[in-house]
Amino acid sequence: MSLLMKKLIFLIYLILFSLLIVSQSFAENLFKVRWVNDGDTIVLSDGRRVRYIGINAPEVAHEDKKAEPLGDKARNFNKKLVFQKKVRLKFGRERYDQYGRLLAYVFLRSGVFANARIIGEGYAFFLPRSPNVGYNALLLRYQRKAMSAKKGIWKNWKEKERNYIGNRRSKRFHTKTCPFGKSTDKRNRIFFSKKWDAFWAGYAPCKKCIPQ
Ligand SMILES: [Zn+2]
Repeated sequence: MSLLMKKLIFLIYLILFSLLIVSQSFAENLFKVRWVNDGDTIVLSDGRRVRYIGINAPEVAHEDKKAEPLGDKARNFNKKLVFQKKVRLKFGRERYDQYGRLLAYVFLRSGVFANARIIGEGYAFFLPRSPNVGYNALLLRYQRKAMSAKKGIWKNWKEKERNYIGNRRSKRFHTKTCPFGKSTDKRNRIFFSKKWDAFWAGYAPCKKCIPQ
């Protein structure tokens, strides 16, 4: 065998080997979705629970709690997107939440970005939380689109003007009587007269003082 042939065969082996490595690394990051709990939580076929980063969907009914408005619709939409499909996960700096759920950006193989699509249909609001901030700007863009189109939770939106205190650091907003709002450092305060304006600016409601 000529030296050239040997070199050629070696090269072909090298290419095949690297293709194998590349395809494996893609495959490793693909997971099948076994269950859809609600608009922002799923279970993978290996049993791991995944909480979508950057979004908060209305709750579905629990044992003792009734579903929040749109909770079931949010779940159904998420189900249509990812149930029984293979998804690719991307992570932020923080991998798990306090309940041991994996925090992830969820993509279909077609490239559809589930977190953004759910916000874009108005089935969840944007919930920024550091340090997982990689897609914040994009997620807020999807929220503004949903708000402008009055979709889902933004449909028939009515509210009276009130005083809300936003925290520029935590990106949460509070009623003016909430202790967390009151204790916000003056330099970090921003005032909103409508919840709508706070959502538009990318702030999420405080769980303690604002019913969601
Ligand atoms: Zn509050």
